[in-house]
Amino acid sequence: MDNQAVMNGIPALAGGKPIRSEKIFYAHQQIDEADIDAVVRVLKSDYLTCGPAIDSAERALCDITGAKYAVLCSSGTAALHIACMAAGISEGDEVITTPITFAASANCVRYCGGKPVFADIDPATYQLDPAKAAEKITDRTKAVIPVDFGGGPADIDAFCALAKEHGLTVIEDASHAIGTRLRERCVGTLADMTVFSFHPVKTICGGEGGAVMTDSEELYRKLILYRTHGITRDTSLMRHEPDGPWYYEQLALSTNYRITDMQAALIESQLKKLSQFAARRDEIRRRYDEAFGRLPQLFVQQETPGAETVRHLYILRIVPEKLTIDRRGFYDALLAENIVPNVHYVPVYYFPYYESLGYERGLCPEAERLYDEMLTIPLYAGMTDDDVESVIEGVTRIAKYYSR
Ligand SMILES: *Cc1c(COP(=O)(O)O)cnc(C)c1O
Repeated sequence: MDNQAVMNGIPALAGGKPIRSEKIFYAHQQIDEADIDAVVRVLKSDYLTCGPAIDSAERALCDITGAKYAVLCSSGTAALHIACMAAGISEGDEVITTPITFAASANCVRYCGGKPVFADIDPATYQLDPAKAAEKITDRTKAVIPVDFGGGPADIDAFCALAKEHGLTVIEDASHAIGTRLRERCVGTLADMTVFSFHPVKTICGGEGGAVMTDSEELYRKLILYRTHGITRDTSLMRHEPDGPWYYEQLALSTNYRITDMQAALIESQLKKLSQFAARRDEIRRRYDEAFGRLPQLFVQQETPGAETVRHLYILRIVPEKLTIDRRGFYDALLAENIVPNVHYVPVYYFPYYESLGYERGLCPEAERLYDEMLTIPLYAGMTDDDVESVIEGVTRIAKYYSR
């Protein structure tokens, strides 16, 4: 037996036989022959980077979202960094975000010398709460980074209203939320800048990859500059007269955040299947909601009003008063059934790096409570109906067995 949970003394229920003979993980990419062909075509072409596949994938992102501009780059993290640079974040600036996110949503502020300010979440939607964010605004606040947690979206309209009132930039971290809509508008057009990630666990896979979407030409020009070292070949931006056709200028300090044409081709090929992926994710999400909504031992995540969400993560939240086991117990019990859960996320300010900057526990009580009660269970477009039913059966069996 190599099952960690079983070794920890937690048996599978139903006579010790796991519900699944093979492990099922919380996320998995779905690559088909068309994706493979698209990448191979690039490999046989003249351009492996800075080529036509980049422009083409950027156009596809604009077509899908309705945004004017897309800047594809090497990762979602790189996209967040150049978005913060374009927003002019610098030493001493404060940027408000949620603690329930991947560290990159706060790290991007640190790369620019700014200070992430964590505001609490809404306990039902798990999204950054606009009212809590408003309380954190000071005269040093420069931007807000709401995260579309799990597919979201956060209430971006409320953040835009706040931003307008206080002269802030809204950078929406939509790493989880490609394809999601809010009040009939696509994520990608809601905020000043919107960031996507194409990491393989996300809805659209590029191996690695990210993008910033914007409707602002001014921001777009900056994003293009920061994607490549702050270097430009656009003579209208240059300080000096070019002394030859080879001449270019570096106007600011950045680094190499370019993406390859192979990744861009994979992203564009995957984007053709976005509505199919979204429909399947939604189907699974509804089956889970229906099954778990009936169980008093579990709380089902609520959506922001007006949201049509393409769910990236399915978050199971336990109701501790109704169970004899805690989150760790539930985690181990799922593992014993060969359903491999995960936890998204450890509150960012719990990490020693952030502790070393002076952040302390207790800052965002709702986020901390959620962290103690949450688990991520499998959700991806490639799941079969059997996969879905076995997850439902496993979760239900555990919730009932350990019920109080
Ligand atoms: C995945 C993710 C990122 C970073 O994306 P990478 O492409 O992995 O760099 C940023 N924010 C959130 C919320 C994410 O989930």
